[in-house]
This record gives sequence, structure tokens and C-alpha cells, in this order.
Amino acid sequence: MTVGTVRNLRRFSQVSFFGVFCWLVLKTNFEVAISPDTVSEVFLPYPVSIALQFDPLVALTTLLANGTLFKGLLWSLAVLIPTIFLGRFFCGWVCPLGTLNHWISEIRSERISFRGKGKIESNRYKKYQRIKYYIFLFMIAAALFGTLQSGLLDPLPLMARSIGTLVLPTAHAAADGVLGWVKSFGFKPLSGAAQFVYDMFAPFLLNFRQVHFHGIVSIAILFGGIVVTNRVFTRFWCRGLCPLGAMLGIFSRYATFGLQKDEKSCDHCNLCLQSCQGADNPDVGTRWRQTECHVCLNCQAACPQGSLDFKFFPTLEGTRTNPPPNQRVDITKRKTVASLAAGAALFPMLRSGDSFEINADSRLIRPPGSVIEDDFLARCIRCGQCMRVCPNNALHPTLLESGLEGVWTPILIPKVGYCEPSCTLCGQVCPTGAILELTLLEKVGDKETPANRIGTAFFDRGRCLPWAMATRCIVCEEWCPTSPKAVYLKEELVTDRQGKEVRVQRPYIDPDLCTGCGACEFACPVVDQPAVYVTSVGESRSPDNQILLRRKKPTTIPPGETP
Ligand code: SF4
Ligand code: SF4
Ligand code: SF4
Repeated sequence: MTVGTVRNLRRFSQVSFFGVFCWLVLKTNFEVAISPDTVSEVFLPYPVSIALQFDPLVALTTLLANGTLFKGLLWSLAVLIPTIFLGRFFCGWVCPLGTLNHWISEIRSERISFRGKGKIESNRYKKYQRIKYYIFLFMIAAALFGTLQSGLLDPLPLMARSIGTLVLPTAHAAADGVLGWVKSFGFKPLSGAAQFVYDMFAPFLLNFRQVHFHGIVSIAILFGGIVVTNRVFTRFWCRGLCPLGAMLGIFSRYATFGLQKDEKSCDHCNLCLQSCQGADNPDVGTRWRQTECHVCLNCQAACPQGSLDFKFFPTLEGTRTNPPPNQRVDITKRKTVASLAAGAALFPMLRSGDSFEINADSRLIRPPGSVIEDDFLARCIRCGQCMRVCPNNALHPTLLESGLEGVWTPILIPKVGYCEPSCTLCGQVCPTGAILELTLLEKVGDKETPANRIGTAFFDRGRCLPWAMATRCIVCEEWCPTSPKAVYLKEELVTDRQGKEVRVQRPYIDPDLCTGCGACEFACPVVDQPAVYVTSVGESRSPDNQILLRRKKPTTIPPGETP
């Protein structure tokens, strides 16, 4: 097989993995309409989070943070073991963010510094490439001490989050906007053509309800920054910042597959450098850096003299001007210690402000099935899959609602969407067990089994129409999905402003029946700040965040022992 064929195989591999990854995020979507009559549990037809389970950084950091390796994450060995022999093949052949960076970097630029000699210089190894190792070490130390921050920068959760909460909703809104704009001209043939094109692509690409997510600007800044910097340095993110790239670099240190350079035939045209993705010095006469190479094979394919050869057990073909490969990771001891110390200090620093026995923000409502808060923060990789799959657009990325430690973890905002009683999808897609998979019975409960609660609803009597304005309204009672209903009504005789006696039904909450689903808050006709609102108190996952004197703590206390 010629190197050109192998390079084409690599291109095919990149397109395929990128396509499959995007398709899985696109399919993280509830495609069956929920009707009030739905009685069976709902399942997604595809294992939509499987790509995240191949991520070795997710596996390692979740293992360190909570001492558990979720069985699906054993798939990550399928990436890690070949890396030990082949080097960072994942970066050059598989990673969807790496592929995106590759494509964006390759768009022809008008800037001189991005072409010819400028490109050759920028593709030489630079010291900034060390930064990713320090980020990796920082994340590892932080995970070891109990705070899982790797998901912020790990490329697979980052891509899933960015595509799911940013790119797809933006594309949907843009397509709807363009269609509306074309139709606004009122020129029927044009409107018909636009509608035809829209209908042709919508079933595949826009086959989801238009959703919007709270706080995606912060996600857009990171994702946009990663994309744009490719126009300054080829694959800047992959070379300098990616913690997964660093981890794979460390594992590829002794890879048996490597670059053999032949000094005698090389005429130093530097075409190899011009097309290098990893900035690992493939040119003859310099020290090749194995831990930086993405194994894209561009250099070998670009060399007109055939002086470069990727093979197993490469030998040193050169002379004194062609030094042996550098297999060491380029980091200093002092900065390594500083990175580890900073990661270790992060956990006590973040936790010194908040105790997680009771949520710091009363409106921090986690999805049903979520584990207790400190464990949740040790498991959630902020992939956004739960937010994307939620059929009611109820789940959103947090900003600071769960402190700095929980940025981009999911929060349920009932005013935007409530938790559908018949749905357990967020637990099904969560790759790390931050949200446990509930059965329908565990979710809604029955006489023997308590329902899963995510909070409790309260009335603001100063805003509630029957309480504050003697106006008839029973919307919250109508929407409450529990059986019997947690919102109940009492008919009362009240005097209105004119002094007339009117009968209104005033709503009350039974906290023992309320699951905190938020349907009442969602439906409340006092829209800006609903007169009924849900807070996290009473959530099943926490023995402490309970309504004192009212509900029993959900922990089981052995007979004969006092709590
Ligand atoms: S460096 Fe990171 S983002 Fe780039 S290809 Fe490798 S794993 Fe993906
Ligand atoms: S929050 Fe509720 S409605 Fe949304 S995915 Fe989870 S279980 Fe389904
Ligand atoms: S809780 Fe949501 S964002 Fe966090 S890991 Fe699970 S699916 Fe991803």
C-alpha cells in the first residue's frame, strides 16, 4: 500500500468518525412525541453516548475522582492500548475535535505567516506545546482530590456539549430564520423553493424540536476560541492545550511505530514541515518528537525524495546531523510540581465556600436520578447529553448556580420546561452515572415504592391569582401530573376590591406527593416570575436537604437505632 493510499485512508477515517460523532449527538433526541397516555418506558434506539465511553481521560479522571470505573468506560482501553504501540493515532485519525481543527487549519489563508516559509516556521516545535501537559497534570491532581474538571476541556465532552447545546440549536434557528425571511417577500415561487429545500433537509438535520439553552454564550466563547485559533497556528488546541492529547502523548512515549529519517536523500525542501499537523519536527536534521506526532502521515506523503518512512521499530538512518527521536515529554520538574499542587489545592479552595449537604442555590434542581451533590460533581463530565435528550428542554448548563466547581453541569429550569413523568432519558444517556438510570416505577412510584423527587413546589401567595387578586385560576392543579395530585384546591369565600363576596379555589401543595417536576411552575400564567415555584428541598438524593418536621429522611435507619 502506498503512503498516498494510507493518507487517503486516514482522511476517510477522519470523515467517518466525525460523521458518526455528529450523528450520535444529533440522535440524542427524543423522536417520539410524548402523549399523556404513554404508559411504557421510553428508550432511545441508539447508544448515543457510546463515543464518550471511548475517552481514556474520562475513564481515568472519573476513576480518580470517585474510585469507580463505570463499565462502559472500559471501551477507552480500545484507544489507550493501541496508543502504546502506534502513538497518538487517535489525534490524527479519530478525534472529532482534532478533525475539525485539522480542516479549519487547512483552509487556504491570505496571510503570509500562514503560507510558505511562515507556515514552515509555525510548524516547528514550540515551547507552548508543553502547556497541555501541565493542564493534564492539573486535572489529574484535581480529580485525585475529588473534583472532576476534565470535562471542561476534554475534547469529546467538549464537542458533544458544543454541538448539542450550541451548533445544532443555532443551525435550527438560522434555518428557520432564513426560511421566514425568504417567505416574507411574499413571492410564491421563491417561498415554495425555499420550503422545498427546507423540507428536503429538515427530516435528517433538523429532526429535533427547536430548543434553547441558558448560558450558552460561555460555551460559545470556548468553542469559538478553539476554532478561530486554528487560523493563527495549525491545530493550536491540539498542539498546546488539549489534556487528552497530553495523556495520549505520555502513553505514546515508547510507541514502536515511528518515523525513520534518511538524511542522505533529503534535499531540505521542508515540504514535510509545511504539512505537519503536530509540530513534531519531522524534517531531517532535527529531533523528531514522538509525543507530539499525530501520525497523520502528511510528512511522508509530502516528501518528494522518499526520505521519511513511518514503520515499526524505526532505525536511526542519519548521521550526526540527524539526531535520534526525542521520546521524553517536554516538561520541567518545577512546573510539573506546580501544576500538581495547583490541582490539589483546587478542591479545598472550591469546597471551602460551599457545603453540599444542602444545595447552595435553592433553585439548583438536578435531573431525576442524580446522585448526591458532591458525588455528582465527581462524576459529571459536562457532556450536555442529558440536556440535549430532554424532550421538554428542561435541562440547561449551569453557570454559577452550583459554584465554580459545577460550571456547565445540568440544572432543571421549570419555567422553561418541566420533567416529564414518563421520561427517564437523561439517566439513560449519562455516560458516567452522575444521573442513575431509573425505571418508570422508580421515577413515578406506587403505593410501595416512593417516587423520585427532585424538589418541592411552593406558592408565592402575593403573586398567585386566587390568593392575591381573588381571580379564578386552577392551572397548576390541572397540570400537576402526580396521582393523587400534589396540588389540591380549597374553595374559599373572599371579598374582592368592590366588597363583593366571590368564591375562589385556592391552591395548596401536599409536600408528600410533590415530586418537584415543575409542571405547575411551567404552566403558571404569571409568566415572568411564576406564582408557584420549585426549589430543591425534599430531593430524594439528599438525606439533609429535606423539609424539617415534614418528610422522613430518605435514608433507611436500621431498626432499633436512632437517627
Ligand atoms: S490533541 Fe486533543 S483535540 Fe486534538 S486530536 Fe488529540 S485528542 Fe483531539
Ligand atoms: S429531566 Fe425529566 S423530562 Fe428531561 S430527560 Fe430527564 S427525565 Fe426526561
Ligand atoms: S449529568 Fe449530563 S452533562 Fe453530566 S455527564 Fe451526565 S449526561 Fe453528561
